[in-house]
Amino acid sequence: MQPNSHSARATSTPHSGTNAVVPSETIAAVASAPGVGGVGVLRVSGPLAPTIARTLLGREPRPRHAHYAAFRDVAGDPIDRGLLLFFPTPRSYTGEDVLELHTHGSPVVLRLLLARTLELGARHARPGEFSERAFLNGKLDLAQAEAVADLVASGSAAAARAAQRSLDGEFSERVHALVEAVVRLRVWIEAAIDFPEDEIDFLATPELAADLAALRTRLDELLAATRRGVRLADGLHVVIVGRPNVGKSSLMNALSRSERAIVTDVAGTTRDVLRETIDLDGVALTLVDTAGLREAGDHVEREGIRRARAELERADLAILVSDDAHVANDLDLLAELPPEVERLVVHNKIDLAGDHPRVEQREGRTHLWLSAKSGAGLDRLAAELKRRAGVEDAGGAFSARARHVAALERARARLAAADDALNRQRAGELAAEELRQVQQFLGEITGEFSSDDLLGEIFASFCIGK
Ligand code: GDP
Repeated sequence: MQPNSHSARATSTPHSGTNAVVPSETIAAVASAPGVGGVGVLRVSGPLAPTIARTLLGREPRPRHAHYAAFRDVAGDPIDRGLLLFFPTPRSYTGEDVLELHTHGSPVVLRLLLARTLELGARHARPGEFSERAFLNGKLDLAQAEAVADLVASGSAAAARAAQRSLDGEFSERVHALVEAVVRLRVWIEAAIDFPEDEIDFLATPELAADLAALRTRLDELLAATRRGVRLADGLHVVIVGRPNVGKSSLMNALSRSERAIVTDVAGTTRDVLRETIDLDGVALTLVDTAGLREAGDHVEREGIRRARAELERADLAILVSDDAHVANDLDLLAELPPEVERLVVHNKIDLAGDHPRVEQREGRTHLWLSAKSGAGLDRLAAELKRRAGVEDAGGAFSARARHVAALERARARLAAADDALNRQRAGELAAEELRQVQQFLGEITGEFSSDDLLGEIFASFCIGK
């Protein structure tokens, strides 16, 4: 995966928190190992890559040229035939000399080839080490490097496209644009501070107030888009709640088209409080029985309550399932949900009364009529879930992480404080300091300001070979 010119442009300056030292060690790892029949890729990066390339090829490799060659072990016996590609520094994924070997996807072949590169002086790469080196060499910024991991882990086509956009630098560019606007404001305000006799006039100009207001709007927009990006990358976390026997398990089954959830006829039959999660094209659905929400007696039930509550805390959306005849009674269950969780009310078992499937808005809430048994109306529920997950209308979306949202929220709070300092208190120095912090928080997203601990944590979550 080569970074395109777009991403290189977005990140022409290397990470300033770490000295961008070129690591002296050469690393090697299997970058792609599909099952039988696919192509396996082994990647080597570092100063020994040219020597290893020359040894395996038996001559000097041509840069960025696909050589077809027989790869041999130390005794000269063939391991496999495949393609060898050499990318000299700096035009490579990591920015270092990089060698890629494309072979048959056999795990044995890949293991033998990896062993060969280790004999020739490379060492095993740590998880995420290739992307980390790309970051340290200014090939990718931190948000782009994270997008590599998100792309690999993407659970839906929409999530993959969004991760690709972040990798291309779309998210980073929006952050950079905000940073530039913050810098302009800082220059203005600091100039005013340096000329105290004019300070009041300078700080009170309508243009300055307008620029600050515009910046706040843009930051809010970016924050909203980033939240959508996190949801798209993580999938929508949905819990299904409702009284016993209303058809929650049946609904789960119908949506997953499998028989994983156990359906019983007896109300309140002892079952696991929490069912396994099913995946509906990137939407994660977890079933939480309302048994888990009620006050309960023994410790098994208390544990159930704890787990159900924990599940609800991290939910984006709760589906309240009710028997169509008893919806009015069951709506009080909604009061037990955390306030920030979105709600959807499902009127199940419409087949019993011969009702037809439909969607209606009532008191600001979406109600859906369906039958888990006959399947009528399920398509609308699935569409509603995917829409809320951002999977349906993901055009232009980029992927993001909770870390980015947290940084933007902090930046937003400091920006509000800067606005207050400037427009209410006319305190230029204070406003300048707040804006400095805004810039710092924005810089954490792309990695211009970040601690080595944070970097270690981020790259350790990658898979090996990326
Ligand atoms: P849960 O306790 O809420 O998980 O409910 P179950 O999924 O175990 O279903 C309880 C009973 O209701 C079972 O006998 C199901 O077959 C039945 N049931 C579920 N959904 C429907 C439906 O849409 N129509 C009808 N007629 N019966 C249903």
